[in-house]
Amino acid sequence: MSIVPTPAWHRDEGERRARALFTSTYRTAPGGVWSAPGRVNLIGEHTDYNGGLALPIALPHRTYAAVARRDDDVVRLVSAQEPSGVREVRLADVAPGTVPGWAAYVVGVAWALREAGHDVGGFDVAIDSCVPSGAGLSSSAALEASVAVALDALHGLDLAGGVDATGAPTDDAGRALLAELCVRAENEMAGAPTGGMDQAASLRAREGHALLLDCRDGAVRHVPFDLAAHDLALLVVDTRAPHSHVDGEYAQRRAACEDAARRLGVATLRDVADDARGDARALEALADGPGGAVLVRRVRHVTSEIARVTAFVDALGAGDVAGVGPLMDASHASLRDDYEVSCRELDLAVDAARAAGALGARMTGGGFGGSAIALVRAGDVAHVADAVAAASAAAGLTAPAFAVAAAGPPAA
Ligand code: ADP
Ligand code: MG
Repeated sequence: MSIVPTPAWHRDEGERRARALFTSTYRTAPGGVWSAPGRVNLIGEHTDYNGGLALPIALPHRTYAAVARRDDDVVRLVSAQEPSGVREVRLADVAPGTVPGWAAYVVGVAWALREAGHDVGGFDVAIDSCVPSGAGLSSSAALEASVAVALDALHGLDLAGGVDATGAPTDDAGRALLAELCVRAENEMAGAPTGGMDQAASLRAREGHALLLDCRDGAVRHVPFDLAAHDLALLVVDTRAPHSHVDGEYAQRRAACEDAARRLGVATLRDVADDARGDARALEALADGPGGAVLVRRVRHVTSEIARVTAFVDALGAGDVAGVGPLMDASHASLRDDYEVSCRELDLAVDAARAAGALGARMTGGGFGGSAIALVRAGDVAHVADAVAAASAAAGLTAPAFAVAAAGPPAA
């Protein structure tokens, strides 16, 4: 058996596909094609809504949006990933809860731009994507960001700027604004209560770099991340586990963190993480309250995870890329035992990858299914993937899918 990872399309291919779908659907050419990446988070999980740190990379896998302006306020939309055909929505009728299904992510971006005072009218859009959907790799943010940069360009909003010769976005502040509007689209229109990491990664990342995102103030730093130079690779395992109760569990974890912060008298758990001595005291005080034992574990995950992000960035800065492996392992243990957001499929993938020689492995994304990542020697990718596939087959689980991730360019 030899597993073939899901390839990312070349830009040309993605653009050609979206353009072809547009032309066959609307019988005219689009104004242009824009695209945006999915993301994988290296470390810093369930920290974004706690004002903490996260360290995602943009994937080479992207969502492509062929778009043309219209003179009215109608949005027509079609996606190669949605067989239901062409949807049509009038922007004047749009309010939270009025647009069901995948259209909410697209229409939501136009709605959020209009809410923010931008003069955005109707448009036709055709979507095609090689970002695995529902795999915890943020196909939703890729979809939003591709539409955001398209509308930015077509309406001359001048928020997205360009990407310079080093791969860095030229207008990070503008992109931060677009990212916020995409979060509004996802939270309020699609009704998915996510933090801001996914949209920031898709819009504000830089090729060849991980994005150190400080979720307290939205500041970012680009951290060089070139595994190939170290003869390493990042293997992504999409467990394809059926997630159930994801939103409910996510909301519960968020509520627990807010409850803990309230009892500790801090704005967010980031304040606890930043105060190393206060940390132990704070945990003692929490343990005595109702539900204390569980809250202590939740807080311990968040504070230790934030520290691991810093340690991960320090190891990269010192050129000790293999040194991040144990931090990935510790992150997984914390998410599994303290935060309780892992599942059988994720644990099995992580354990099997490590047994096959991975230098470190962890679940990534919100949990309860989705994907795991493993840091492997470049020559070991197929061997580790085969081992994970064999272990899940032996356990009678759904066959996982695989991808190899490198830090790709942002939305453009
Ligand atoms: P993830 O972001 O981890 O892939 P989500 O549940 O957040 O998972 O988002 C997946 C949803 O986003 C899909 O169910 C669909 O509604 C929408 N979506 C993502 N990509 C596409 C696409 N290419 N075409 C249509 N809808 C999409
Ligand atoms: Mg998503």
